[in-house]
Amino acid sequence: METVNCDVLIIGAGASGLTAAIMLKRKNVNLNIILAEKLSRVGKKLSVTGNGRCNISNKDQNISHYHGDTLSAKQILNNFTFDNLKDFFGSIGVLVYEFNSKKAYPYSLQASGVVDALRFEAERLNIKTLTNTEIKKTEFLKTGNTKSGKDTAFTSFGDEIKINSKYVIISCGGMAGGAQYGTDGSAYNLLNKIHTMQKPKPVIVQIKTENTVTRSLKGIKVTAKVTINNHSDTGEVLFCDYGLSGPPILQLSRYCKKNDIVSLDLMPEFSEKQITDFILKRNDLNLAGTDFFAGLLNKRVGFAILKSLNLQNKNTKYTLKEATLIAKTVKSFNFKYLDTTGFKNAQSTSGGFLLKEFTENLCSKKINNLYCTGEILNIDGDCGGYNLHWAFASAFAAANGILNKELYGKR
Ligand SMILES: Cc1cc2nc3c(=O)[nH]c(=O)nc-3n(C[C@H](O)[C@H](O)[C@H](O)COP(=O)(O)OP(=O)(O)OC[C@H]3O[C@@H](n4cnc5c(N)ncnc54)[C@H](O)[C@@H]3O)c2cc1C
Repeated sequence: METVNCDVLIIGAGASGLTAAIMLKRKNVNLNIILAEKLSRVGKKLSVTGNGRCNISNKDQNISHYHGDTLSAKQILNNFTFDNLKDFFGSIGVLVYEFNSKKAYPYSLQASGVVDALRFEAERLNIKTLTNTEIKKTEFLKTGNTKSGKDTAFTSFGDEIKINSKYVIISCGGMAGGAQYGTDGSAYNLLNKIHTMQKPKPVIVQIKTENTVTRSLKGIKVTAKVTINNHSDTGEVLFCDYGLSGPPILQLSRYCKKNDIVSLDLMPEFSEKQITDFILKRNDLNLAGTDFFAGLLNKRVGFAILKSLNLQNKNTKYTLKEATLIAKTVKSFNFKYLDTTGFKNAQSTSGGFLLKEFTENLCSKKINNLYCTGEILNIDGDCGGYNLHWAFASAFAAANGILNKELYGKR
């Protein structure tokens, strides 16, 4: 087995690991840094973010867009603002641009370009990157807690390599996207005997619902206001054979519990009374069955509503009572929530290691010189660039923690 020594071992060359390595090395060229990545290339997940366009951040960094240990995360996020992110990426050649919305993307709209920029800068700085290197165990040779100020030395083991280091940063991600992106959850084993973990749950993910109706409408998209457990979001909803998808569904997926009702308001701009009037007026048009909703709602969705009320074959005119019932259903087209479609399809992980067990620089309070960044921690963001912003902000915090110790001897 080969043995190598370095100052800082960063485990995981994803969004936060790559960034932490660059931030560290730029401020202290003397640091010998190794980035160990279990996949054959760095930044694989980053290269598919935002449907290949990389929603890199969001201008609106209100803490309400984050979930989990937000009290502890707030300062870390305040220390790395949207403008700081723009400056950092600008300095590696990525023009971060808002395209008339608060969501920010690289101007190229190419996630792979962001990975390239990080990769090229890591290469330029001579950061040693070991791909196909999964770290399976990290031993802490001298344990001293952060308070006592004693230094810790680490030995980390891959299958064919042993890496000694003064610092370790664990940047292994959560479980979103699953094994194809190197995030199957096995990296939790590196820390779960030391730190307390909030059980991981997939978020920003499609949902499974009772699917007789959704399957019959498979492939149809409607604009709806979706409400789950008093949380609402409006946008395009896609009916699927397993249940529901689309931006508002992904956004609200974190709030779902088994047997909750997912309610679609298919005409959010109109009141139940107004819709009742629309329906009564249509009585004069002699529309029936699949044609009844023509020009008002997607015809097949409208027909599914009539069918759910057993009013689909009606040849006579709808009574006020029936029209009100139809309008009620248009305002609350409901589906029983069963589950998510799982980590493989999720964009983020809620849960992870508790932030209160880490300092404001993301150094473990239990093992000195051990740091964590990114999705492995118990903080996650809304869909819209927040998860990547957290990855970069946490990299900045950990890099500063190490730099403060190295350059100024701060604990
Ligand atoms: C399909 C998809 C689209 C997304 N789109 C967006 C978006 O547009 N905007 C946004 O803000 N967020 C998005 N996200 C979320 C975002 O990509 C993640 O939150 C972010 O990448 C997390 O960064 P990280 O550094 O914690 O981990 P990751 O970027 O996941 O990197 C972790 C790395 O660690 C490696 N690793 C794991 N274990 C080991 C080990 N034991 N040894 C060595 N290496 C290891 C992995 O192979 C991986 O490369 C998306 C996620 C997915 C799945």
